[in-house]
Amino acid sequence: MTIAFYPGSFDPPTLGHLDMMLRGLRLADRLVVGIGIHPGKTPWFTAAEREEMLRGAIADAAPGSAARVDVTTFDGLVTAAAADAGATLLLRGLRDATDFDYEMQMAGMNGAMAPSIDTVFLPASPAVRAITATLVRQIAKMGGPTHHFVPGNVAERLHTKTL
Ligand code: ADP
Repeated sequence: MTIAFYPGSFDPPTLGHLDMMLRGLRLADRLVVGIGIHPGKTPWFTAAEREEMLRGAIADAAPGSAARVDVTTFDGLVTAAAADAGATLLLRGLRDATDFDYEMQMAGMNGAMAPSIDTVFLPASPAVRAITATLVRQIAKMGGPTHHFVPGNVAERLHTKTL
């Protein structure tokens, strides 16, 4: 059984993240989504809220595949969290050359630390390529419409949070 680990901040989950998860499910039998907790950084949404939003987004978009998805949190090395999850694939999305440069460095160093885990890059789908969680946060905080950028359940949550 192939397990893929998909790490990120997901603060909040976006349509770009959802696209990656759905495509990851085509590559692996199980997908473990890892919410990275950075000590010292205060996220907008708690890990529990992000977990609930990720689960809701998958349940809405791919009800038949939800049982193959697990959502966890981790606060150490990505490679350690991926190994704990039993993953052999580490899923990352590439939006642009900035992502590419950074991700290549990480893939190289992660590969040195955990040779049995292969990083798999997926090119961002054109329709969601421009979406970043950082800009979604800014738009939401200014009362802008977020439904273009995030799954429906997340848009509702953003709306409630910014009322
Ligand atoms: P962001 O970079 O939007 O703040 P994360 O740090 O949570 O989000 O990103 C986690 C992973 O998801 C990274 O591999 C990132 O490249 C990927 N990702 C984020 N947004 C998109 C997108 N719009 N399309 C494809 N991949 C994405």
